[in-house]
Amino acid sequence: MRLIILGPPGAGKGTQAARIAERLGIPAISTGDIFRANIKEQTELGRRVQDILASGGYVPDEVTNEIVEDRLSWDDATNGFLLDGYPRTSGQVDALDAMLARHDHALDAVIELEVDEEAVVERLLKRAETEGRADDTEDVIRERQAIYRKETAPLSEHYELVGLLVKVDGMGGVDEVTDRVIAALPHH
Ligand code: ADP
Repeated sequence: MRLIILGPPGAGKGTQAARIAERLGIPAISTGDIFRANIKEQTELGRRVQDILASGGYVPDEVTNEIVEDRLSWDDATNGFLLDGYPRTSGQVDALDAMLARHDHALDAVIELEVDEEAVVERLLKRAETEGRADDTEDVIRERQAIYRKETAPLSEHYELVGLLVKVDGMGGVDEVTDRVIAALPHH
């Protein structure tokens, strides 16, 4: 299955993506994780995106699209994947469509985790205490929510129009949410 998971920062996308992908036997591909790994390793890409991530802004589409195209060409993604954190802009939606079309592939579904904004801000502040991510300060968290609302929330409308959107209640226990997502996916 070729899937996307959408939801605001703090919705639990990363956690759910890993669990859903494992159940379906496909890789979970997180652009945020790829960027953070590159920053940690101080690669050329890492140096380019470091300040952008720290501020909560988006990495330019050309950079992000290229990274995803490369990652989707790995053997483990031949039969499916779950994208987490991508696409995030309408330019990325178009780029992904073009990538898939070149291989005669199409998306099976777009999962949207629906959560309450205040609850997710609380979660992120908690994560800040345990993980100490550079973009988990309150100002940056608010900024990331605002950018999400402006840039990424419209994507769900697009996927709804093309009949791919599957909305799932993202509040509740981790297992509960995973089960809900699996139950809501199209059968294959
Ligand atoms: P969160 O969902 O909590 O915002 P992510 O790990 O998905 O965390 O993303 C962290 C940061 O990585 C984003 O704020 C952004 O700077 C960068 N990033 C990740 N994915 C993309 C993308 N598709 N396009 C542009 N920037 C991205």
